[in-house]
Parts: sequence; C-alpha cells; structure tokens
Amino acid sequence: MEKVVIIRYAEIHLKGKNRGFFEHAFAVNLEKSLKGIKHELRRTSGRYLVEKFDAELCEEVCARIANVFGVHSYSVGYLVESNINSIFETAMLVAPDTGTFKVDTHRGNKKYPKTSMEINAEIGERILDARPALKVDVHAPQSLVYIDIRESGMALVFGDFEEGLGGMPVGTAGKGLLLISGGIDSPVAGYMMAKRGLNVELLHFHSYPYTNDGAKEKVIDLSKILSRYSMTTRLHTVSVTHIQEEIHEKCAAELNITLLRRFMYRIAERMATRLKAKCIITGESLGQVASQTIEGITSSNSVMKELPVLRPLIGFDKEEIIIKSKKIGTYETSVLPYEDCCTVFLPEFPAIRPKLDFIDSEEKKLDIDALIEEAISTVEITTWNHI
Ligand code: ATP
Ligand code: MG
Repeated sequence: MEKVVIIRYAEIHLKGKNRGFFEHAFAVNLEKSLKGIKHELRRTSGRYLVEKFDAELCEEVCARIANVFGVHSYSVGYLVESNINSIFETAMLVAPDTGTFKVDTHRGNKKYPKTSMEINAEIGERILDARPALKVDVHAPQSLVYIDIRESGMALVFGDFEEGLGGMPVGTAGKGLLLISGGIDSPVAGYMMAKRGLNVELLHFHSYPYTNDGAKEKVIDLSKILSRYSMTTRLHTVSVTHIQEEIHEKCAAELNITLLRRFMYRIAERMATRLKAKCIITGESLGQVASQTIEGITSSNSVMKELPVLRPLIGFDKEEIIIKSKKIGTYETSVLPYEDCCTVFLPEFPAIRPKLDFIDSEEKKLDIDALIEEAISTVEITTWNHI
C-alpha cells in the first residue's frame, strides 16, 4: 500500500484547444512547488497523482500543493491492489470514526468482477460492522470514502477533499510586473493577479540612504512569501533617491507624491518592457489615501504609454485587504515598522486632486528622461531559492 496525493484541477479553465498548454503549466508549477521532496507526478484520468514520496512528508506535500493556483481540491489517499480485502483495509484508514459517511466507487476497469454499486454496498457494510458509531447517509454525508478501480490492477482509495486555492496556473496569462512596497496592499495585489495566471515579477523602489536596509529586507521577505505561490524568485530594486531630491528641491511641495508616482510608473513601464511583462500591477485602492483619489490615479496613469495598469484591490476596503494578507501570510511582515520611500519628504499637505496642467508645469523643471535612465541604471536583482 502506497500513500499518494490526488490533485484535481479547476477543470473549467482546461477545456478546448488550450488544454495541453494549461496542463503543462500546471504540472510545471506543481513540480516547482514540490522541489526538494523526492516524488513522482503523474497525470491520470483528468487528475494528477503525487506518488513515491516518503509517507512521513505527506503533510509537507499537501502544504505545498495547497499553495498552487489551479488546484481545485486534493486528497490524501492510498494506491492498493484492487482485491476487495485490500480495498476494505485501506478504506478503514480513510473512513471517519463517527458521524455519517458514504462510499463512492468509480470503475475505470470495466472488467472488474463487481459493479460500482456492489462495491459501495460491500465496503459500506464492512465499515459499518467495524465501526458501529457510524451511519450511512447517501444524500448529505459528513465524510466520503472514494474508491477508484483502475485498469492497472490497482485501486485508489481516498477520503475527504481539501479545498485548493483555485484560479489559473501561474504563467498561463503571461507576465506582469508588480510594484511592491513594504506595505499591506501590494503583496495582496500580486497574489490576486498570480491567481489569474500572471507570472508576477517584482519591482521595488527605495530611497537609500533615506530608507534603510531593514526596509529592503522587509520587501525581500515579503517577496519570498509570495514566491510560495509559484511566483518569481527574484526582486528588482531601483533607487529613486535622486529623483526625490530633485523633486524636493525644484517642485511644489504639495506635488511631491504625485510627481514621484509618475516617475515610478514611467520606470515601471520601461522595466516591464525590458522583462517582457504585459502589464503593471499595483496595490492601489480607490480613496484609500490622498494619492489614490480618482484624480491621483489619473495623474499617474496618464504617463503610461502602452501597458495597462492592473489594480485588483481598487474596490476593496482596507479591512478586506488585511484579511486577505493574513490568509496569504504577508500581514505580519507588512506591518513591521520600516520607512517606505513614499514617506520620505512627505509634504504636510499633499495635493488630493492634482491638476494635470500644474503637474506638467512643475515637471518641466526636471530632466525626466535623464532621471529615469539614471534610476534604471541603479537596478539590483536579489534572487533566492524557491520555498
Ligand atoms: P501598499 O500597502 O502596497 O504600500 P499603500 O496603501 O501604502 O500601498 P501607496 O503608498 O500610495 O499605498 O502605494 C500605492 C501602490 O504603489 C502600492 O500598492 C504599490 O503597488 C506602489 N508602490 C508604493 N510604494 C512603492 C515602492 N516603494 N516600490 C514599489 N511600488 C510602490
Ligand atoms: Mg505603501
């Protein structure tokens, strides 16, 4: 008897001509998530099976699979010889001790000497004999015992389904570039777009020496947490120190943040093109702070030349975002108190509804292209191992 994990994918995305493409990406992501654990991954009748791993690592295997987008559900099960006694003994391992249950058999091997109904009845009865506290409920059972008779002379026996993350396999929607700060919102935004199949690359702006190494470490830690979800294992960091100094020195103080954001977007678009990303992702949420009024968003959005900016949190309340960040595992790190570059040179009264002509006249005081080039030349790449 061998312990296995059965993985079902979100079938709806995998139909039609693109099926092979989705399945390949899904399998690659599963393999990536299981890196370091000896195993075999096999596709079988519309599911994946993780086999031949050390049974003691089963919890770890499940924990990794639980973080892969595209997983609809998974169950721990056993691969056993398909004689009825072996099936019963194994069914006893997955059956509950109390409550209601139902046996559900599927026969891949149509030559098996018993029908599905006969197997359900026989195994159900034997389980009831062994565990009198149990009751059968075929309509709304609390637990299920699945039996899958396979053509190979083996049977899969497994218990309840654990819910997966759902979504699309990472990479199937192409690449996106996440503007990641050390805050609560942007990691959640990256997670949400990875869930829709984007391969998310990471870009962080710092203003060293105004921001310190702790701030950078925090963003690296957040990035590492995100990479659990099949995301990239590298972070691009770019210095905006000189840009901020120039803005501070030459432009109207109330536009500090507005102008900085426009630089961030411009740099992001160039970096995205370089990285072959098809979009920018931010953690903006309408009205959350002064720079996220519709006018604030318009003012930064208007510097984008070609790529769209995806803002998956645009309609979320802070509370909702916090709940998500706790679930993802980024919250505890996000709330560590390090300065972000946006809080350096923070004006007393930032413009809440910046006017585009005022922005234009203030920007004329700066050599925009030179500042962008200079900032991009400071790019540093940090990499780490998956998991
Ligand atoms: P977050 O919690 O993500 O920091 P926030 O509520 O603090 O967001 P802002 O500081 O206005 O909001 O930032 C809005 C978005 O701009 C962020 O979600 C992020 O995508 C991007 N951003 C802000 N600061 C940086 C930075 N230092 N590096 C990269 N992107 C940033
Ligand atoms: Mg922030």
